[in-house]
Amino acid sequence: MTRPNIWQLKPYSSARDEYQGIAASVFLDANENPYNNPNNRYPDPMQWELKKNLSKLKGVAPEHIFLGNGSDEAIDLVFRAFCEPRVDNVVAIEPTYGMYLVAAEINDVEYRKVLLDEHFQFTAEKMLEAADEHTKAMFLCTPNNPTGNDLNRKEIVKLLNAFDGLVIVDEAYNDFSEEPSFLTRLDEFPNLVVLQTFSKAWGCAAIRLGMAFASPDIIGIFNKIKYPYNVNQLTQQQAMEMLHRHYEKQRWVEVLKEERNRLESEFAALHCVQQVFPSNANFFLVRVTNAVHIYNYLVGEGIIVRNRHAVTLCGNCLRITVGTRAENEALLEALRKYGK
Ligand code: PMP
Repeated sequence: MTRPNIWQLKPYSSARDEYQGIAASVFLDANENPYNNPNNRYPDPMQWELKKNLSKLKGVAPEHIFLGNGSDEAIDLVFRAFCEPRVDNVVAIEPTYGMYLVAAEINDVEYRKVLLDEHFQFTAEKMLEAADEHTKAMFLCTPNNPTGNDLNRKEIVKLLNAFDGLVIVDEAYNDFSEEPSFLTRLDEFPNLVVLQTFSKAWGCAAIRLGMAFASPDIIGIFNKIKYPYNVNQLTQQQAMEMLHRHYEKQRWVEVLKEERNRLESEFAALHCVQQVFPSNANFFLVRVTNAVHIYNYLVGEGIIVRNRHAVTLCGNCLRITVGTRAENEALLEALRKYGK
């Protein structure tokens, strides 16, 4: 599966890769400045402390974990490691998270779209029909962005069994869903890559920390080609602190799910709303009478939502992120006033 140049690559070996003991106290190996402790030192290139803690929380051994500068880094690495530009291709559901396509285009790799049905669902069969012998990876996002729904689990399993290449299951929003994560099935499927992030439920979009979980072979390839110090020290520290406070994340998730359900039923009663799509995420999609007009009206009210009118199957749709109670009330108030 791996591109030959990547398979043969001898990775850069940093000073902190070569020496990993803890007994030494004089570090004259990495051309750092000895002053301005602790930010003068390079961080652990493999983030072992953080992975050990994450491993306990997720029930996945550290060798199965890759950490990157957002999950966007892992998405890009899939292309760089496995897809030969202008030769290989990937298949993805449509509509979905926009970065899969952008990463494909940056890496000059053909991107094949498989349209979801009217319930925003997919079938393994349609994905396989779109594939050929050059298809290296398939992208699934569950709950899906921007549609908000969980993808059919049986079909995901069917695809994992039937497809020879990688199946990337992006679980950025899984904390808000009642569906279990695919993390527990890593041993069963050597072609599975699960993506998660600190940017959503963990409330840490600013620190840029994404996770990829897969077989040690796949993780080994990612580690081979990543930038040596891809996750900075401040991010590693902040993530460790958040892991100690994981109960807080759980509380946010509960509050946000409740607010999502309340918002969705309030939206159903609004004059300008035609359809509210059920969501398993911390956002939902809503079809309105005129998305462009309502989007601009809300901007005038100082409220920014995401206009998805131009996205396939999402004509006249807005994507609403669930905020605090007060923010959600401000949005509802503005929409009740709209057109009066
Ligand atoms: N996957 C999905 C489905 C997303 O919606 C997003 C961000 N909007 C990401 C991944 C990227 O997350 P990160 O901040 O970890 O790069």
